[in-house]
Amino acid sequence: MKPVLLSGDEAVARGAFEAGCAVAAAYPGTPSTEILENLARYENVWCQWGSNEKVALEIALGASIGGARALAAMKHVGLNVAADPLLSMGYAGVNGGLVVVSADDPGCHSSQNEQDNRLYAPLAKVAMVEPSDSEECRTYIRAAFDLSEAFDTPVLFRMTTRVCHSKSLVVPGVPRDPAMKPYVRNTGKFALLPTVARVRHRLVEEKLLALEEYANTSPLNRIEWGASREVGIITSGIAYQHAREVFGDGASYLKLGLTFPLPSKLIRTFARSVSRLYVIEEGEPYLETKVRLLGFDCIGKELVPLCGELDAGILRAAFLPQPSPAGQKEDAPALPVAPPRPPVLCAGCPHRGFYAALGRRKKSVVGVGDIGCYGLGVNPPLEGFDYSICMGSSFSSAIGFSRALAQRGDARKVFAILGDSTFFHSGIPGLVDAVHLGANVCCCILDNRITAMTGHQETPGTARDLMGNEVVPVDVVALVKATGLPEERIRVVDPLDLAATGAAMDEAIAAQGPFVIVSRRPCVLLKDVAKSFEGQWCEVDQELCRQCRQCLKIGCPAIASKEGRIVIDDPVLCTGCGLCMQVCPFGAIRKGGSAR
Ligand code: SF4
Ligand code: SF4
Ligand code: SF4
Repeated sequence: MKPVLLSGDEAVARGAFEAGCAVAAAYPGTPSTEILENLARYENVWCQWGSNEKVALEIALGASIGGARALAAMKHVGLNVAADPLLSMGYAGVNGGLVVVSADDPGCHSSQNEQDNRLYAPLAKVAMVEPSDSEECRTYIRAAFDLSEAFDTPVLFRMTTRVCHSKSLVVPGVPRDPAMKPYVRNTGKFALLPTVARVRHRLVEEKLLALEEYANTSPLNRIEWGASREVGIITSGIAYQHAREVFGDGASYLKLGLTFPLPSKLIRTFARSVSRLYVIEEGEPYLETKVRLLGFDCIGKELVPLCGELDAGILRAAFLPQPSPAGQKEDAPALPVAPPRPPVLCAGCPHRGFYAALGRRKKSVVGVGDIGCYGLGVNPPLEGFDYSICMGSSFSSAIGFSRALAQRGDARKVFAILGDSTFFHSGIPGLVDAVHLGANVCCCILDNRITAMTGHQETPGTARDLMGNEVVPVDVVALVKATGLPEERIRVVDPLDLAATGAAMDEAIAAQGPFVIVSRRPCVLLKDVAKSFEGQWCEVDQELCRQCRQCLKIGCPAIASKEGRIVIDDPVLCTGCGLCMQVCPFGAIRKGGSAR
């Protein structure tokens, strides 16, 4: 077939399809979201979003036990949520091949940390494969399914942002039949009671030894001899591409694709064959630790930064002071740097109304945030909450936080804020405990009817699934009521109605104990919603405007102070949502209509 230009995520989808993957599940998270979205376009692959990464992996592991090749995809922090089934499946093994994609985010482009998930492979005792470009994403994921079945192990397929999102040429292969393996009841393998687990642990250790033997000769691990053996570089993933760019053909490389278990014999052979050994890797000294354990001195993290994303420039700066091999590449001309553009809530975003109302009650409340678009409400001028830690933590952490405030005599009510997708993901248990324990917390669900931040993926609350089928939308309010919280402590408001939203907040502040506000309005970027706002905008009457700047405090990117005037002058940005009209004390903002 003709080569095509694919991103790493698209190539993973292509490779999984070619490998006969029959079931795939994920929770959306940058940089892995596009894997499922693309895989869902291929025939004969049942693809769905799980309500969180643990659920997604459990869907996939169930399919594997049933005999299907199955894939679960998630961003790196999602693997923390899915760690429980991953570590257990390490013991149980698989039936149909099981591949777990972890897309790491060095540099925290869209994440709360830059954890290196390679460390999960030894912990979970599962094989790990790392591609370094799109073609390897396609071919390695096929190899990962084969490896999974051959060695009876889930395979951790570890990618990083640059591999996920960069495009390079891929030569599509011939798809394999999604042939099912037979299902035979096997409680001695899959019913992980303590008696079974003890036996399985021994088997897993034996399996890892066999896997390491294989890793020494696997085509996924290869030595590329350069013009000289003066410098040898051990590397994997995207770091291989950066190292090649900097050191070119002058150096020799041990390029590792099967990175757990690491191939001790191959590393020894390579290390003994070169004069100077560099280990170039992004994140933790994962490869370097192994090299040192094998007794070889090397240059690694003393020159290669531990924090942030690597690039060729960083490597050049780190290694050029060292003697360099012939063939080392010259610096590429510097690219122009884009001006910084801090992320903000979109113009017309429903969350802005919620934060505007909350901001008027700052003396009586303290906000706790979570992970999603609404997290942007922490920035000035909204400053809607004080902290956010990880997915689904706002309700549960607010229970403890409110206790601490009460004990120090701080009477402010804690408003814990998360979105509908996060509520389904991992917010529900925190709500259950807040209600059950009578916590003095107002749990706020900002229900915009979609997973917005990652690009509008369906949630359990939407009426269609990823594959476009009609499904039962799960009702957020019904779930809240099911906790037993009395109806008089539950309010559903339209956040673009400032007065009604504020009134609900006042009730929550006045009530001792748990309260729930569902702030419900769909994301303004949803196709149908955007259409309903089409051609609407607001404008400032300069005669009435007193320059009080109240409208600037809602942080809408469509409003600006220009040449001494407050203006709404962007015909594309303003949706005419009317929020600024409600905050203007002088009636100086009015609907402009649709005749721009
Ligand atoms: S994508 Fe939707 S929910 Fe997210 S900030 Fe924009 S309008 Fe708000
Ligand atoms: S109506 Fe006002 S708040 Fe709404 S998008 Fe336009 S400028 Fe922003
Ligand atoms: S809130 Fe009204 S009066 Fe004040 S600056 Fe904005 S448009 Fe002018």
